[in-house]
Amino acid sequence: MRITFYGAAQTTTGSMHLVETNGKRILLDCGLFQGHRKEAFEKNRNLPVDPAKIDYVILSHAHIDHSGNLPQLVRQGFRGRVFARQSTMELCDIMLRDSCYLQKRDLECINKKRRREGKKLFEPLYEENDVTALMQLFVPTHLHQPREIAPGVTLEFFNAGHILGSALVQLDIRSDHGHNHRLLFSGDLGQPDQPILRHYEYPAGADILLVESTYADRYHPSADDVELRLEKYLRHIDRRNAKLLIPAFSVGRTQQIIYYLNRLRERNKVPREVKVYIDSPLSQKATRIYANHREVYNEEARAMIEAGRNPLEYPGMVFVGTPEESMALNDAPGPMIIIAASGMCEGGRVLHHLKHCVQDPDNIILIVGFQAENTLGRRIVEKRETIRVLGEETPLKAQVEVINALSAHADRAGLKDWLGEVKDNVRHAFAVHGEPEKVSAMVELLKDLGVKNAVAPQPGQTYKFD
Ligand SMILES: [Zn+2]
Ligand SMILES: [Zn+2]
Repeated sequence: MRITFYGAAQTTTGSMHLVETNGKRILLDCGLFQGHRKEAFEKNRNLPVDPAKIDYVILSHAHIDHSGNLPQLVRQGFRGRVFARQSTMELCDIMLRDSCYLQKRDLECINKKRRREGKKLFEPLYEENDVTALMQLFVPTHLHQPREIAPGVTLEFFNAGHILGSALVQLDIRSDHGHNHRLLFSGDLGQPDQPILRHYEYPAGADILLVESTYADRYHPSADDVELRLEKYLRHIDRRNAKLLIPAFSVGRTQQIIYYLNRLRERNKVPREVKVYIDSPLSQKATRIYANHREVYNEEARAMIEAGRNPLEYPGMVFVGTPEESMALNDAPGPMIIIAASGMCEGGRVLHHLKHCVQDPDNIILIVGFQAENTLGRRIVEKRETIRVLGEETPLKAQVEVINALSAHADRAGLKDWLGEVKDNVRHAFAVHGEPEKVSAMVELLKDLGVKNAVAPQPGQTYKFD
């Protein structure tokens, strides 16, 4: 048996690990590299494996850095099966089509320039028909139901508590010469006690472990005061008839905010019926998928449902449809909450809301997610005097607030808790899904926990096991 680490090795994105065993080639994830555009495009375009020779893909969850290169795998000849949970499959259907749309829009811009310069035009990595072809290859796979996917190779999913559909991947491998292995891949591990979703599980007995390291060296602030702060902002916009603009990712974060608003309303903490506009077609679709999969909810969310309340429905919540309806909000009177994508303000409808919000000191821009360097979101967090929105330098006068407690990733304490329970038989541990200093921190953490053989693999590096 061999494992080769092609993506999310010494970096966070592009999750892809190849397991070769019992004559089969199995990919764990097939994600997109994100970051600097040109470099990412080259990496994404040049798949390090021959897609026609891959038998199976096991997909941990729908985030683009884990699933985003699957349509290209199909475009280049993959005809095997993709094992994932039902909700992951449904989320992939909408997210990968959205990824096609974003690529197309991006390329139109770049190609316009290249055409003028007489340069060869770029093609997208994949198009919608590739996504449609991919969707035929999915095999919906339930939690806790071991499935022999190939002779001597048994797959079982466990809860990862990260986003809807996220799974821990366990592979039991029986080889011909009697060497058995249990491999456990964390995918992305959720932060314990986040709203809606159930806590991650602790599958035991793995001897080979692949663990994510996104926040291996960091502790998240407590989520305790999220509701208090939201309540404060709601009162503020209510008094001033102002807007609360929340740039948020469509999948996961948007649903968390809706949930928190619901909890406030339950406790009569919402001043009066403030309208909530969810302004992203993808958010609307994702919220519907979240609402349809109540079987994965945690106890608190279930209790809400049993009491006759839907945690993802909010009175006064409006899903904004067309771009015209979205634009109409620019001049509409407050108080109102607008939740719009993209989460880092790099594109999408949030941009024209920002343009109309940022100059009024009564408005609040609430940042609820990680903002990468060189993004507009980061410049807002840094409270620059002016920001460039839709090509125009605009003074940033609105109040900027940041809530850092809503991460979907376990922090060092969460990772330590999880590893403490799953590590007992681990002989080989691999720290993946993290920048170099994060994977190094994970290797140290593993060694502190008594896992002697812990490494952070380099991209393309192969490890053999008897
Ligand atoms: Zn993820
Ligand atoms: Zn990830």
